Order: sequence, then structure tokens, then C-alpha cells
Amino acid sequence: MSSIDTVLMTGKPVATALYERLKPRIEVLGQKGITPGLVALLVGDDPASAIYVGSKTRKFEELGLLAETRTLPGDISRDDLLAVIAELNAADRFHGLLVQLPLPNHLPANDLLESVAPAKDIDGFHPFNLGRLLAGNPTFIPCTPQGILELLSHYGITVAGRHAVIVGRSNIVGKPLAALLSAKQPSGNATVTLCHTGTANLAHHTRQADLLIVASGQAGLVTPDMVTPGVVIVDVGINRTGDDSPKGYHLRGDVDTEKMLGIAQAITPVPGGVGPLTVAMLVSNTVLAAERSAGVVHN
Ligand code: NDP
Repeated sequence: MSSIDTVLMTGKPVATALYERLKPRIEVLGQKGITPGLVALLVGDDPASAIYVGSKTRKFEELGLLAETRTLPGDISRDDLLAVIAELNAADRFHGLLVQLPLPNHLPANDLLESVAPAKDIDGFHPFNLGRLLAGNPTFIPCTPQGILELLSHYGITVAGRHAVIVGRSNIVGKPLAALLSAKQPSGNATVTLCHTGTANLAHHTRQADLLIVASGQAGLVTPDMVTPGVVIVDVGINRTGDDSPKGYHLRGDVDTEKMLGIAQAITPVPGGVGPLTVAMLVSNTVLAAERSAGVVHN
């Protein structure tokens, strides 16, 4: 049987091209004395969250944009956190406000995400923005699903007409992605199956996919016997697997990339696939928020 020459869809060149497209827009804002600004709220001392926030804010700084991290104690009360969010909603220098998830268990994530001003909700997690996305009139598209569309487009993968199977139905990845891929738009028009832990016989569904997106948070969940040769695979998962390296862990996706080489038409690596695009889309949404606040129309 002839083996397929699998394309490795790395995120970096896609993100670099996106930053190049953003530069003139950032310059136009600069001419008006506006620097797009992000504030990230980091609650508690989860090391993975600190790394994610660091990689986001570093990118803003590299691009000459404003990025500030507010680190808050893990035992902060709901009311105190609401007060911080209210203060930052009102701060003109920040066009985007993100609350890094997960939050400590005693904090009601949904209530807190709803308290972020929709105009600053550059993560696109506010119900107002999620509702507009579902209605086909998005204001801010959540960064990871938006990044996946950008990645597929960059690598010339047509979505329309495909059977897209998504594993994972979170509000930040699976659900918005299902809405985007099934939208009656040139970037959508796929037939979508959304799988989760209630799905009977996951492998039956993943084998039907000609586009498979896995966002389960389960390292190595999807194995070669669960796919059909020629499938395009987007591996969203980032899982820390313990090892004896100095860091004490390495990152693994939800799919075993190595074993899919020769089977998949194309696959994203972990790390270095979807991750850089999530950050790039956060920058893009913050620039968009700054443009809207300044009345600058971007075509
Ligand atoms: P969540 O934990 O919120 O959601 C996981 C989803 O996967 C749930 O819907 C869950 O089902 C489903 N699931 C879990 N196990 C199985 C299984 N065995 N079979 C079928 N479905 C399953 O995770 P997120 O969406 O926030 O993130 C998913 C992964 O993507 C994580 O590894 C995360 O770190 C990563 N991630 C990566 C990003 C990037 O930039 N690359 C950005 C965001 C996330 P149910 O609803 O029934 O519980």
C-alpha cells in the first residue's frame, strides 16, 4: 500500500503572515496616538496558566503593543474579582481584557466571564459574543477556533463539503468551532459531527471524518486505527506528560502525530501547531477592539 506524504501544518508561518497583515493596522492606530492594549487577569498560581499568559503578553510586547498582567491571589473572593474586572472594563488604555482559565474552583467562571465588557471580550467568551457568533454575525470570534480556520486556509485545506468531526464540546473550542465550520460561509459549509464523553463509539465517528479536530485534553486519545487514510487532522490538545527531563514534563497532543505520518493528508504538531495561532488571534482581536474604540474602519 502506498504511504501518504503527510503535510505537517506548523503554526508559526501562519502566525507570522498574520502579524505582517496586522502591522499596517497597528501603524494607523499609532498615527492616532493609540496603542492596542491587553490586560490579562491571572488568578492563583497554576504554572501552566502563568506560562500561557506569559507567552501571550510577550507577543504583544514584541509587537510594541501594551500588555499588562494582573496577578491576583488564588483565594480572592468573587466580589473582589468582580471589582477588579469593573475597574479594568473602565480603563481606556486596555482594549482587551482576558481572564485566564481555569479559575480556582470557588469562583464561578461563567458569572465572571459575563462581567467582562463585551467590547473588550477579545477571547470571545461572553454570551453576547458567543450568541452573535451563533447568529452568524460575529463580533469577536474565540481565538483558537478562529486560528484553526486561518491555519486550514493557509495550507489550502478547503472546509466546504467536508465531513468535519470535532472531539470536544467546550465553550472555548468545540462549540464555537462547530458553529464556524457549519456556517453558510465560504470558510464553513462543512457537515459537522460534535463528539464528547457521551458519544457512543467515538472511533466509529472519527473514522467518518475527512477533517478531524481533536480538543479533548486527553493525551493520545486518537490513534491510527481510529482514522481513515487521507484525513486532515488538527490537534488542539496540550497535555503535560511527566518525564525525567529538567522541566519534569513534555507536551503531548490528543493525537499521536508520529503514528499519523503516512496516514493523514495533513496534521498539526504539538507543540507548534494551533498554539501560535491562538496567540496571534488574540493580538488580532485586540487590534480590532482598539480600532472599534477609535472608530477606525478596517476592511
Ligand atoms: P475542556 O476540558 O473544557 O473540554 C474537553 C472536551 O473534550 C469536553 O467536551 C469533553 O467531553 C471532551 N472529552 C474529553 N475526553 C473525551 C473522550 N475520551 N472522548 C470524547 N470526548 C472527550 O477542554 P478545552 O476545550 O478547554 O481544551 C481541550 C484541549 O485543548 C486541552 O488539552 C487544552 O489544553 C487544549 N487547548 C489548546 C489551545 C491551543 O491554543 N492549542 C487553546 C485551548 C485549549 P464532555 O463535555 O462530555 O466532558
